[in-house]
Amino acid sequence: KLYNQVQDLKGSIRVYCRVRPFLSGQSNYLSTVDHIEDGNITINTPSKLGKGRKSFSFNKVFGPSATQGEVFSDMQPLIRSVLDGYNVCIFAYGQTGSGKTYTMTGPKDLTEKSLGVNYRALSDLFLLAEQRKDIFCYNVAVQMIEIYNEQVRDLLVTDGSNKRLEIRNSSQTGLNVPDANLFPVSSTSDVIELMNLGQRNRAVGATALNDRSSRSHSCLTVHVQGRELTSGAILRGCMHLVDLAGSERVDKSEATGDRLKEAQHINRSLSALGDVIASLAQKNPHVPYRNSKLTQLLQDSLGGQAKTLMFVHISPEPDAVGETISTLKFAERVA
Ligand code: ADP
Ligand code: MG
Repeated sequence: KLYNQVQDLKGSIRVYCRVRPFLSGQSNYLSTVDHIEDGNITINTPSKLGKGRKSFSFNKVFGPSATQGEVFSDMQPLIRSVLDGYNVCIFAYGQTGSGKTYTMTGPKDLTEKSLGVNYRALSDLFLLAEQRKDIFCYNVAVQMIEIYNEQVRDLLVTDGSNKRLEIRNSSQTGLNVPDANLFPVSSTSDVIELMNLGQRNRAVGATALNDRSSRSHSCLTVHVQGRELTSGAILRGCMHLVDLAGSERVDKSEATGDRLKEAQHINRSLSALGDVIASLAQKNPHVPYRNSKLTQLLQDSLGGQAKTLMFVHISPEPDAVGETISTLKFAERVA
């Protein structure tokens, strides 16, 4: 309770940054990250960007040695507020390979220690719901969708159907994508099964040269309904956990055809997201939700009483420095 009040004073938009460690075989590289201190991160910029250092500040910066557990425990109060009836959006932003999926889901070979935010969030909600069982009766259900080339598709299908879905902002059911499958979940094993299904469906259409997952946004939505046992009052909360498409700029002179179209859709939707969050942060009365499917989808979970966490990811390699700086600038703009 106290946590929410403290956070509300600071506004409802938080920005975190995480630096991925070097991958195996990269031990001799020099990191572009000069240093990290509290919420500040300083980057060494090469001569073509004006050699020197650039600093950025956020609500929190996680260095390369931060564990999945540490990252989650920082986000835990925000996630728990869903059971108090808040709407929450968590975005993982960054260039392909910067660690977005690692944070949200985990690495390919998942272990208990390496489980990402999505799994930990649901397990923690089950735990808290259990602790509150004398006061509230909670129902939790999930949907998982993908936005690719501005088209919405259900990731929780078992029959291979790949139908385009519509977004509705004020449906009777309170679901923004009423035609996407909605699965009640009550245990971590239910969640693991559904996430596996979603990941299998996300991989469909991917080829060695075309990793679809880096060019689509995937969104795991957790719907919570709580009934207060004494009064019978109902509260609803909703959390969107979004693994965004890679933010890297595609060279227009090189990309053609489908690849160029994909890139344009991604650029447009990520800038639409940036515009929405920046105008919320500036308390601008006009918020341009209609400019992309992603912001339309999340309209009622961005702004108002809703809480947003923009979690940007950067790679430490010197040759990624251009993308690193543009990621940090994006983050600074929405902070
Ligand atoms: P993205 O989803 O942004 O494209 P990934 O999450 O797939 O990036 O990460 C790229 C690679 O780096 C993967 O092999 C992943 O396991 C690894 N990786 C990313 N972040 C970390 C981390 N914090 N610790 C260890 N390995 C990481
Ligand atoms: Mg990924």
